[in-house]
Amino acid sequence: MNIPMLDLKAEYALLREEIEPAVVAALAACQYINGPNVRAFEAEAAAYAGVKHAIACASGTDALLIALRAIGIKAGDEVITTPFTFVATASTVVMCGAKPVFVDIDPRSFNLDLDQIEAAITPRTRAIVPVHLFGQPVQLAPLKALCEKHGIRLIEDAAQSFGADYGGRKSGAYGDIGCTSFYPSKNLSAFGDGGLMITDDDQLAAEIRVLASHGSRVRYHHHVLGYNSRLDEIQAVILRVKLKHLDSFNARRIAIADSYNKELAGLVETPFADGHGRHVYHQYTILSDRRDMIQKVLTDSAIACAVYYPVPLHQQEMFAATHGDVRLPVTEDVARRCLSLPISPMLKNEQIRHIVGAVRQALT
Ligand SMILES: *Cc1c(COP(=O)(O)O)cnc(C)c1O
Repeated sequence: MNIPMLDLKAEYALLREEIEPAVVAALAACQYINGPNVRAFEAEAAAYAGVKHAIACASGTDALLIALRAIGIKAGDEVITTPFTFVATASTVVMCGAKPVFVDIDPRSFNLDLDQIEAAITPRTRAIVPVHLFGQPVQLAPLKALCEKHGIRLIEDAAQSFGADYGGRKSGAYGDIGCTSFYPSKNLSAFGDGGLMITDDDQLAAEIRVLASHGSRVRYHHHVLGYNSRLDEIQAVILRVKLKHLDSFNARRIAIADSYNKELAGLVETPFADGHGRHVYHQYTILSDRRDMIQKVLTDSAIACAVYYPVPLHQQEMFAATHGDVRLPVTEDVARRCLSLPISPMLKNEQIRHIVGAVRQALT
C-alpha cells in the first residue's frame, strides 16, 4: 500500500466535477488578471474569516512581505518570530531590511514560547510574527496584550492554519494582518501558487493593495516601491470551489488526528492540542528518540513521512553571519526528534491502521 503525505489525486477526483466546468468558463471569459473570480474569492474569503478586507496575492511569501511593508518594517527594525517554521516567515523580514529575532518554542505546541517573548523585546522591536505551526493556533490573547503593552504590531503567519479558530475568531483574523498561503499542500490550496492577506483595518487594506500593485494608487503613478503580486483568475476559480469544502476537510483532518492519537499513545509523543483553539492539523507531527528508525521503516513500507523542519532557521546557512551564536535548545531538540505522518482529508481508516502498524513495527 503506497501512501502519500497528502493525497491530492484523491481530492482532485472528488472535486473534479465542480472544478473543471468552472475553470473552463473562466478560460473562455478571458479576464485573466483582476477578473471577477478574484474579486468574488476575496469577498468570500473575508466573509469566511469574519474580517472586513481580504486581499489576494501571488503567494504566502508575498503576503508576509507585503504585510510587513504595509506596517512600515524597514532597515534597523527587529521582528520577533519563531525559528521552527518555513523559511519565508523570516526571509521576508530580511527582505524588508529588518532583523528577525528568534525566540525558542514551547516543546509541546511547537509554537513560540510566550513566556520568553517579552525578554526579547528591545526599543527596535516593531512586530511579532507568530506562526500557527502545523495548524495549531498560537495563544493570541496574551500575545496581543503583550503587543499592545509595548506598542508593537502583530502579523499572523496563518499559512498552515486557514480555518483554525482561536477565541471565536478565525486564524489570521486576530492580528493587525493575517497572512496565508494557497500552496498545493496547504489546508486550502490552489493548483499553483497563491496567497492572501486579511485585516479589519481600512488603512492597512488600502496600503496592501497599493504595495501589491506596483506601489500605485493611480494607474501609472507610483508612490512607493511596490510589487507585482496577484492571484490569477484560474486559481481564484479553484479556490472558490475548495473554500466550500474547507470546513469538512479540516473536520476530517481532526478526526484522523484523533485516531492517530489513540493508536500511538504510549509509543511516541503525540501532538499536543493546547485547547486554546481549534487545531486543524496541517501536519500530524510526533516526537520520538527513535525518529530515524521510524522514518526508515515507513519509507521501506512505501509510506511517506517527512521531517518538518530538519534545520531550525537560526541554524540555516543564510543566517550564519547574523545568528551564528544563537542557541535555542528546545527547537534544536524538537528538530532532531520530530516526524510528520501522512495526513490528508482523503486518508482512509485502513490506511491509518497500516501506518500505525508500521510505526509499531519500527519500535518493537
Ligand atoms: C507555506 C508557508 C509559507 C509560504 O507560502 P508560499 O505560498 O509557499 O510562498 C510561509 N510560512 C509558512 C509557515 C508556510 O508554511
